[in-house]
Amino acid sequence: MKIRTRFAPSPTGLLHIGNARAALFNYLFARHHGGEFVLRIEDTDRERSTQHAVDVIFDGLKWMGLDWDGEPVFQASRQERHAEVVAQLMEKGMAYRCYCTPEELAAMREKARAEKRPPRYDGTWRDRDPSEAPEGVPYAIRLKAPKEGETIIRDHVQGEVRVANAEMDDLILLRSDGTPTYLLAVVVDDHDMGITHVMRGDDHLTNTFRQAMIYRAMGWDLPKFAHLPLIHGPDGAKLSKRHGAQSVVDFREEGILPEALCNYLLRLGWGHGDAEVLDREEQIRLFDMDGIGRSPSRMDYVKLSHLN
Ligand code: GLU
Repeated sequence: MKIRTRFAPSPTGLLHIGNARAALFNYLFARHHGGEFVLRIEDTDRERSTQHAVDVIFDGLKWMGLDWDGEPVFQASRQERHAEVVAQLMEKGMAYRCYCTPEELAAMREKARAEKRPPRYDGTWRDRDPSEAPEGVPYAIRLKAPKEGETIIRDHVQGEVRVANAEMDDLILLRSDGTPTYLLAVVVDDHDMGITHVMRGDDHLTNTFRQAMIYRAMGWDLPKFAHLPLIHGPDGAKLSKRHGAQSVVDFREEGILPEALCNYLLRLGWGHGDAEVLDREEQIRLFDMDGIGRSPSRMDYVKLSHLN
């Protein structure tokens, strides 16, 4: 099997250091196995995606020496394909039209809040006869998610993680304006692009359960997952603006060399013996998923200007 990994950033802001580390790990893993590393720009959020952010991603990856294979794929250009998969799910009886109005959905959320439980779609249209559909009311398409049993993910870093299906929502696949949701687009694209391994931040773990339901409904194999513990700042809190350096551009502007940044990011969450400095060739030779740590990494770098 040819190994194929991807980096799939949303071009809505800066190239965060956590994302840059995910890109590095995916790149090294693919190169180590003589596989391919591809780039997908997840620009389905048209309001927040900008060309500037796309340029920052291209520039940042090139600066770090992470060359990708083939042309980048722009997710928004694949909407027809996403809709086609939803049509297949409808045909299989694995998806249904939901005519709930925004007011009805808000009432469901309100009820959940009052009952102090997480908001969940109440399944109004799940088993209802489609002939009862109101005329002229826009509808979303939801996945008919299993209600019994468990969804289990065998994650290379987190181990076996499971959730009771009764806890899961019938997630939306296509919004009422016909646009695909992020969860659907990621699954269809990873499948179509032949992605075999997905390494990404563990803030995506809950999404992974929902994505697994879409894979199973389509009868597709899941890729292997490795969810990386997030990078924290020197104070132990999730890395954010307040810590100064948080994006690739920040480090670059500080005069940090790309080799130094990559070496640092690699050692932040991946361990291999005592060697402190590994050049790119050694990184590719040594990188494996087994060396990825399970606890959040703490970045001890403080922006120089913060010290003045
Ligand atoms: N586009 C997502 C993000 O930037 C990543 C999606 C993924 O890696 O599956 O957070």
